[in-house]
Amino acid sequence: MKDNEFKKLGPLTDKTNSFIDDLHKSGALDALLNELKSVTNQLPESYSVSIDFQLNVCDSNKETSVPLLQTGFVAGKGIELYRHYGDTATQKYLVDGEMCIIPDDYCPHCWEEWDLKFMNPTCDNCGKKIDGDMIAWG
Ligand SMILES: [Zn+2]
Repeated sequence: MKDNEFKKLGPLTDKTNSFIDDLHKSGALDALLNELKSVTNQLPESYSVSIDFQLNVCDSNKETSVPLLQTGFVAGKGIELYRHYGDTATQKYLVDGEMCIIPDDYCPHCWEEWDLKFMNPTCDNCGKKIDGDMIAWG
């Protein structure tokens, strides 16, 4: 998404993350998280179960979405419940003369997942090339 669009979403992303922190600290999630711990203690040790919150931006023209925040709580047999964060590191790109920002494992042109761009320099979905159709910035 365009740089200015991403910047408009930053405060909402931060507030969402803080709100989940506040909910957790307030005890409002205790009953749910206690149930999570109870159920996972009845499952095999190799299992973990998470309750996740995501903030996604969907573009109906592209028919896909990208996550800006992925966080939640994980429990498993024999491990303490903990807060986890998905990888939401972002990268700037110059695409068609416009500065864009998107999670670094997504294509800035079509918004589909595209990991390891420097080893796999062409997007499997749209065929755009890094350092050809777009330039990683910064
Ligand atoms: Zn693409």
